[in-house]
Amino acid sequence: MAKKVKLDKDLCISCGVCNAVCPSLFDWDDDGKLKALVEEVPADLEDAAAEAEASCPTGAITVE
Ligand code: SF4
Repeated sequence: MAKKVKLDKDLCISCGVCNAVCPSLFDWDDDGKLKALVEEVPADLEDAAAEAEASCPTGAITVE
């Protein structure tokens, strides 16, 4: 089953790390924070999604 990615905007400090790590999954939203572009993570992006989750300094990203 595909993993799901969530980004909690209340925790996001707009550092941009997730976009740098995986621009296919995370992009800037109109409010200056980041958004997840998809809910289900494509298989070929699972490693990048996990890296973004581990790299987020505030724990705003969960992949499960
Ligand atoms: S890495 Fe985390 S804090 Fe930084 S922009 Fe992405 S979601 Fe926001």
